[in-house]
Formats: sequence, structure tokens, C-alpha cells
Amino acid sequence: MSKRVAVVTGSNKGIGLATVRALCKNFDGDVFVTARDEGRGQQAIKDLEKENLHPKFHQLDITSKESIGKLKEFLEKNYGGLDVLVNNAGIAYKSASTAPFTEQAEVSVGCNFFGTLDVCDALFPLLRPHSRVVHVASRAGTMALGKMGKELVTKLRSSTLTQPELIALMNQFVSDVKAGNHEAKGWPAWAYGTSKLGVIALTAVQARAMTGDSREDILINCCCPGLVATDMYPKGPKTPDQGAETSVYLALLPVNAGKPQGEFLGEKKVIPWLKDGAGMNFNPL
Ligand code: NAP
Repeated sequence: MSKRVAVVTGSNKGIGLATVRALCKNFDGDVFVTARDEGRGQQAIKDLEKENLHPKFHQLDITSKESIGKLKEFLEKNYGGLDVLVNNAGIAYKSASTAPFTEQAEVSVGCNFFGTLDVCDALFPLLRPHSRVVHVASRAGTMALGKMGKELVTKLRSSTLTQPELIALMNQFVSDVKAGNHEAKGWPAWAYGTSKLGVIALTAVQARAMTGDSREDILINCCCPGLVATDMYPKGPKTPDQGAETSVYLALLPVNAGKPQGEFLGEKKVIPWLKDGAGMNFNPL
């Protein structure tokens, strides 16, 4: 039987690095640090080696289909599959950023939603039975939902939403921002929140699609790490190790756990985002 393997995206620092640390201690198989920058990735490996942990490294930029394709080939050739995928890589413009909102919308949705989606589309065929997939989303996503028009809320929460429909909605957000009419169309003026809501909705769509899959017991969930002191949010009260706890919990759900499936979790508990009010007024500051 091939060796089991776990991949964490954006894991050269922050919550991703902490997720690798915990998986090295608790996952029975090889654990991969991936980073868009090879030097930063190798430094992370060196730092973890000092803790007597021995992850491996592979380059991965989630916004590059070529880079994703190389990782896929590598996993196929060396492991014949994949057992744990933690989609942690993400970006957030600082609130003080002066970058035009059109750029913030395109780049945030491009990386956080489409980058995550492209990794999934490439790597899902490699998932073995009993695999676990975790997307690191954010409560910013459900807060963004609370700022959206009714029609959009209904579409994004629909139990029949398909992947092409969700892709169209995320593209619509970016094009409405470019046209300057996003607020009239019911979108919030919040690129990061909208991109993470896309990830939360994607989780539900992907989990539904798994229902008809011949591979047994593949669980796909997403989570909010809480407010974590990293380069993204230096004021966060949690340490990266604490922020990684829900991702790690979901990545290590026992064989045949059955649930959660397609859910959004915080502090290891399901946040019922399909119901009005749930998670929609969480104040991160
Ligand atoms: P971070 O310290 O800024 O780490 C983000 C990681 O993602 C870095 O390794 C970064 O690599 C990587 N990354 C960015 N773009 C990438 C790309 N195109 N391809 C591959 N990797 C890429 O932030 P963090 O706080 O640990 O965030 C981890 C996840 O948690 C993110 O998805 C974030 O949205 C989410 N989150 C964080 C908080 C919080 O309070 N910190 C709250 C809610 C959700 P580089 O080093 O090359 O930039």
C-alpha cells in the first residue's frame, strides 16, 4: 500500500505552518509544507527540523495552474494519491490599503476562491477513500453574507447551487465591482469577506458532489481559525497553534466519522450559516 500523504497550502508561516506542525505530530504519513516561494518554504522546513519534526517540501502557488499541475504530477508519481488536503493559503488586503477596490476584488477572489478551487479541481481526483479536505475560510465570509442583498443570500445558500453557478456568482462580483455597481447589485464592499463566503459555499457544493462518488468516506469541510496573530492579522489574540486547532481536527476526523460533511466550523463546532443570523454578526475587532 502507498504511504499516506497530507498537503497544507500556504504553510511556510502562520496558521499553515502550525497546521503542518500538528500534523507532523499526529498524522500517520508524510506531511508537506507547500509555499509559493521555495526559499521561504525551505526555511520553514529548517525551523520545524529544529523541533525534531520532519515534513517534506513542494513548491505550490495556488494562483498558478502550472504550479498546481506539477504538485499533482509529483503526488501521483510518488504517492499514487492524496489523503489530507488543507487549503490554507490566502491573502487579505490590510484595511489601510490604498489599492483600488477593483484590484482588491479581483486579486482576493482570484487567490482565495479561484486558487482554492483550482487546487481542488486538480487534486480531488487523487483523493483516496477516507480522505479529509479542509478549506480555511473565515467568519468574514458569513459576515459578508449579512451585508448582502436577499437575492444573493438565497442563491449562495441554495441547496441546489452548482459549482458553475457559484463560479458565475464570484465572477459577477468582480465584474460588478469593475462596473462600479456592486452595491446596487447587492454585494458588500468587502473583497476578502466575499472571497471567503465563496469558499464556504464551495464547501457545501463539493460535499454534495461527493455524495455520488464511488470513493467512500471523503469528508470536505471548512473552518474559521478565529483571530490569530500572524502577518495577516498581527493583533489576533490566538497563537497560530491555537488557530490551527479546528483545521487539524477536521483533517484528522476518524475513519467513517460520517460527519461533519460540507459544514463551516469555528472552535470545532458547526456554524449553521444557512440559517438567518448565524455567524452573520460576529465582530472580529
Ligand atoms: P499569513 O501568515 O499571511 O499566511 C498566509 C499564507 O498563505 C502564507 O504562507 C502565504 O505565502 C500563503 N499564500 C498567499 N498567497 C498564496 C498563493 N498564491 N499560493 C500559495 N500560498 C500563498 O496568514 P494566516 O493568518 O496564517 O492565514 C492562513 C489562512 O487563515 C488564510 O486563508 C486566512 O485568510 C485565514 N484566516 C486567518 C485569520 C487570522 O486572524 N489570521 C482569520 C480568519 C481566517 P507567502 O509567505 O509567500 O505570502
